[in-house]
Amino acid sequence: MNKEYILDSLTEMIPNPKCELNYNSDYTLLIAILLSAQTLDKNVNKITPILFSKYPTLEDLKNAELSELERIIHPLGLSKNKSKSIKNLATVLIEKYDGKIPTSRKELSTLPGVGNKTSGVYLVEYHNQNFLPVDTHIKRVSYRLGLTKEEDSVDKIEETLTKTFKTNLAILHQRLVLFGRYTCTSKNPKCEACKFNKKCILTK
Ligand code: SF4
Repeated sequence: MNKEYILDSLTEMIPNPKCELNYNSDYTLLIAILLSAQTLDKNVNKITPILFSKYPTLEDLKNAELSELERIIHPLGLSKNKSKSIKNLATVLIEKYDGKIPTSRKELSTLPGVGNKTSGVYLVEYHNQNFLPVDTHIKRVSYRLGLTKEEDSVDKIEETLTKTFKTNLAILHQRLVLFGRYTCTSKNPKCEACKFNKKCILTK
């Protein structure tokens, strides 16, 4: 499949892609992304209003009791690690960055709880930067569309997709995530409703 067909088909299937995490500022988005590890966005959206009404500022999060953070975050899983990361992240942002979130992916990736994927997702969503961070959906979809190999690492996949598509990666990222989440699902993909039916690796 050529890249124009892939881009046109994704645009037709998902005309108005939108991040499904709720947020109202840069750091509430960054923390929501951090909390979304190994859980669903809709679960994060139930917890963040509770978290940010109790701790509305970075300063509040920096001074929070870890045990109380853990209690609030517990339904999302990995609550020990996530609580520590949020408290440490708030501390570093205040003490080293004057409460501002860096906009360089390299710098952002070094912050507590923020790896290469989280930083990419944040910069794509909040700053529309030209990245294509790879999650489990994008990994699966890229392989099925014949763009990457099944054994490729996420770094290799991002490199390949970036070289292939080059521009407008932020919106492509959103489309690929939503396509993988709702159509090209891991089990029982909805091939009959898919523009790539009879063309992708699983169906041709
Ligand atoms: S036809 Fe099915 S497996 Fe192939 S890309 Fe579409 S949803 Fe995925």
